[in-house]
Amino acid sequence: MIKGLSWLSTLNLAKVNSDKTKGRCVGCLSSNAYNGLCVFCQADLPVNQWHCRYCALPMSHAGNELVCSDCLISPPAFAHSYIPWRYQYPVDGMISRYKYNRQHKFARPLIAGFTSYVESVFRDQNHIKPHLLIPSPMLSSRRRERGFNQARDIAEQLGAALDIPVSAGIVRRVRKVQAQRGLSREARLKNLHGVFEVCAKVPERIAIVDDVVTTGATARVLASALRDAGATEIQVWALARTPG
Ligand SMILES: [Zn+2]
Ligand SMILES: [Zn+2]
Repeated sequence: MIKGLSWLSTLNLAKVNSDKTKGRCVGCLSSNAYNGLCVFCQADLPVNQWHCRYCALPMSHAGNELVCSDCLISPPAFAHSYIPWRYQYPVDGMISRYKYNRQHKFARPLIAGFTSYVESVFRDQNHIKPHLLIPSPMLSSRRRERGFNQARDIAEQLGAALDIPVSAGIVRRVRKVQAQRGLSREARLKNLHGVFEVCAKVPERIAIVDDVVTTGATARVLASALRDAGATEIQVWALARTPG
């Protein structure tokens, strides 16, 4: 078995017949599901196997210390991104249903899978867990419109599972930004300048939590603001990463 994929199989095979195996698979409605997915649908999730060590941008070639061109030219304020899946079928649809239709059952297998993934990475690679999880903040008007901030919801579930505190109030988004799509890298960063306000001192070791990392520009700007406020070891945690 390819190293790095084993956590997915372990998650399923060890627990698929346990007492917790209740409810149907959100992918195929099979009754033999654990945390909302059957073994077959779990195996269909697009694992982000080879990626940039900083921003987790999917890469087409193998390697454990790959660096994308953006991060090579300008290393971000965060040292690692932990993003287990690519934002492709069926993960894209699962996240959309969770985020826009508030169908939380579609996030459940991804959040459970993320927990297993991050636990195995921290154990096997001797990485150190953060002291605090900080969800990527959402404008309050957007949160009212959507009904919840999915980054906060994910952070709270991960924090509870991994015993790490969560602070949603330490940083806030202070203004709207123009849509990032179609902008150059420089324009995206400029567009986001001053968008985050850190309201308190930040611990040294933190993880920014989001549902999807798209261009990585938001994570970069948020990480810089948190570094300026005292963080020295910053990670990015997300469920999925869009291909380049
Ligand atoms: Zn299934
Ligand atoms: Zn990168």
